[in-house]
Amino acid sequence: MDRTVIPFVSDIAEASRQAWLDHLQTALPEFQIEAFDRSADYVDADVAIVANPDPQQLAQLPELKWVQSLWAGVEKLVHSLPSDIAIVRMVDPQLARTMAEAVLTMTLSLHRDLPLYAAQQAAGIWEQHTVTRAKDRKVGVLGLGALGRAACEALSRNGFDVLGWSRSPKSLPDVQCFSGDEGLTDFLRLADIVVILLPLTDETRGLLDHTRLSQMKPAASLINFARASIIDHAALVGLLENGHVRHAVLDVFEVEPLTQHDPLWNTKGVTILPHVSAPTNMTTASQIAANNIRAFFETGQVPQAVDRARGY
Ligand code: NAP
Repeated sequence: MDRTVIPFVSDIAEASRQAWLDHLQTALPEFQIEAFDRSADYVDADVAIVANPDPQQLAQLPELKWVQSLWAGVEKLVHSLPSDIAIVRMVDPQLARTMAEAVLTMTLSLHRDLPLYAAQQAAGIWEQHTVTRAKDRKVGVLGLGALGRAACEALSRNGFDVLGWSRSPKSLPDVQCFSGDEGLTDFLRLADIVVILLPLTDETRGLLDHTRLSQMKPAASLINFARASIIDHAALVGLLENGHVRHAVLDVFEVEPLTQHDPLWNTKGVTILPHVSAPTNMTTASQIAANNIRAFFETGQVPQAVDRARGY
């Protein structure tokens, strides 16, 4: 019997596409996973697996009911897919663990002044600074979803005083939770290190503008592992230059790779990472996608999808 074909619609590097196809096929041996071919006929396909898909290619699937994204962030899909196509994003406990590890790594680096000691080494300066206890360091996580919660757990396990901010009110063990506009003002006033793990939506685009960044505790630091457009970078540079923001770890940029002439490369107090905080693991992510697709073919129910009105 012919296996049901599931198209993989992607605009990614060829080697990466091939690697994904291999992993997905291994995870779903009872289906045929095929790279989208514009000359092929996909009249029966009601699900597609996607990674940066061209919406025009998806429009060639007349019966498409839902897409399984291989990425956790889905802002481009939310704006490019018709609203009757459900978007199922990647929610992978391994991704959350990898992100929590990245948050802990950079938090510890800021907590123990590694950027300052690197600058001192470059200048041949031997100078010791006071070590603050982790319990006296307030680390605030913006976004308490799959990734934000894992980050909070890792931070509190390591003794930090953890704050969190989300859209709806929350109660989490060992996390002082804030929500809404007023909650953000209080959160920013308290946090020594602010970690961004929010989705990019109409509400979060430009959220950390000059006003909000100015509300941060003086000499607090920032870590952005979410999306660049959540921050006004021009405002951030100004506040780094005047010392209001002590340090910014930036892993995500509006244009990637970051262009050679971008002033951020040479801004004092900035650590630039090339979008490496939490790469998707092909083995575990393919398994998650496989579980969702299998459940759909068994029950006819589309897995839990992104709320198109909220945008995440
Ligand atoms: P998620 O489970 O959907 O959680 C989103 C969190 O943000 C929720 O707590 C939500 O609040 C909160 N939120 C959304 N809009 C808000 C608003 N306007 N005000 C306050 N809080 C708001 O998402 P996730 O899986 O944790 O992922 C978060 C983001 O990380 C993704 O969207 C993606 O862009 C990014 N990411 C980056 C990388 C990387 O390598 N740099 C890798 C993976 C993911 P509620 O709890 O009230 O709904």
